[in-house]
Amino acid sequence: MKLASKYGEVVQESLHALLEDQSFLPNFKDEDRENAFKSLESILSTPNQIQKSFLRVPLENGKILRIPAFRVQHNNAVGPYKGGIRFHETVEEDEVINLATLMTLKNALHDVPFGGGKGGVVINPREFSEKELHTISKTYVQNFCDILGPDKDIPAPDVGTGEREMDWMMGEYKTIHPGRPYRGSFTGKSQVNGGSLGRREATGKGVYYTLRYMLHNFVKENEEWFKRNDNRFAKTALEHSDRPLTIGIQGFGNVGSVAALESYNCNYLDTKVVAVSDRNVTLYNGDGLDIKALIEFTSNHKGDLPTTEEALSEHEIKADIQEREDVLYLDTDVLILAALEDQIHENNVDQVKARMIVEGANGPITLGADRKLSEDGVLVIPDILANAGGVIVSYFEWLQGRETQFYSEEEVFSLLFKKMKETMDEIYPQFFNDPFALRQNCYIHTVMKLSNILYRHGKLY
Ligand code: NAD
Repeated sequence: MKLASKYGEVVQESLHALLEDQSFLPNFKDEDRENAFKSLESILSTPNQIQKSFLRVPLENGKILRIPAFRVQHNNAVGPYKGGIRFHETVEEDEVINLATLMTLKNALHDVPFGGGKGGVVINPREFSEKELHTISKTYVQNFCDILGPDKDIPAPDVGTGEREMDWMMGEYKTIHPGRPYRGSFTGKSQVNGGSLGRREATGKGVYYTLRYMLHNFVKENEEWFKRNDNRFAKTALEHSDRPLTIGIQGFGNVGSVAALESYNCNYLDTKVVAVSDRNVTLYNGDGLDIKALIEFTSNHKGDLPTTEEALSEHEIKADIQEREDVLYLDTDVLILAALEDQIHENNVDQVKARMIVEGANGPITLGADRKLSEDGVLVIPDILANAGGVIVSYFEWLQGRETQFYSEEEVFSLLFKKMKETMDEIYPQFFNDPFALRQNCYIHTVMKLSNILYRHGKLY
């Protein structure tokens, strides 16, 4: 299935389940109820606005390009639109709509007072010079400046963009809007430019925290229940107290490398990262990989892992070199997906051996594969729950920019974990009703929150 219809479909399924539950929005009965739910469905499954523009970019070689770029504003019932800008050659309108919808759902689930938006520019950033990327970033802001702003729509980094691009973009926003507040116009900025401490690590830390909280707190507190339920996940969850839990991680960028380091340094769970992968290779070591050495290597090699025996021995890293996709099929307890969309699909799901999967990336498992995994007793902690750390700390960055008061790194992580714990305390106990419906529970929960707000805004009649 194409990502395009995925989250719109999710909203529809959640609303159908809620329509039957007469205790939800009890004031609406019979035909009024049908109409109110139809109204909710149309509001939440379609974006408020889609803007497309062609950026005019003069290249250093004298040529001029017209590059397609998008900003999708899905819904702002909860607050200003919020979501990253992706620089990638495969960006297309449907994908941006889908990711903007996910942002609306994710922010509402975690009670972050933002709506959902997303942007994209159809380029491979590796093919452009720094000067050209600067022009592309500035032109993006010029072309979309009417709809962006600290109280309207606040972009952040996504695949292919980072602090550097956010700094350039905020600089351009400030030039276009002299004398107006600007610090909250973009998040994910560098620290000297008003960025928050801990923003870079936030998503990876949050991803690992959802795993840690599930195993160290939730399973431990409910051990008897797990003993009575014999499935692939329950067995692993109980076994882990006797032996280290093995982890494989697909993607060793911002999210994957930080999640790996969290595992490496974790005092709560006995874990070892036995495999990591990136766009070139999988590295495997059954005794556990030296994550610090790998991070050191990637920071000096444009983010890439070592791909040759020579590179490994030169840096004293012990690992077997395997094919890029192998990480997905290793016999590990946990698989963290932190690379791209649609990595586990109908054609490869049968080869997956992990007992638990955490979605660090957005949408790395297709709907069909997700159903199969739950039938097989594999627990999936979904993207909407697991990878919200970035947007939560973006919210703290936005707040700090407004107040011009800055938090310490310790304060940021403590606030991040508190917020994610509140969500997990709402969602994890629903595990007992249907262990493998965590994702659906998250969707129903967030659609309920959004529907209540829309009802109170008078949008249902
Ligand atoms: P990144 O660009 O820093 O890292 C991506 C990693 O994936 C790199 O190691 C790259 O080599 C690897 N990769 C690329 N193609 C691959 C392939 N075909 N197979 C295996 N690995 C491949 O990106 P990131 O910021 O770490 O984001 C990773 C995912 O997490 C994306 O889907 C992103 O949308 C999602 N996400 C990121 C954040 C954030 O704050 N960075 C927040 C929420 C969600």
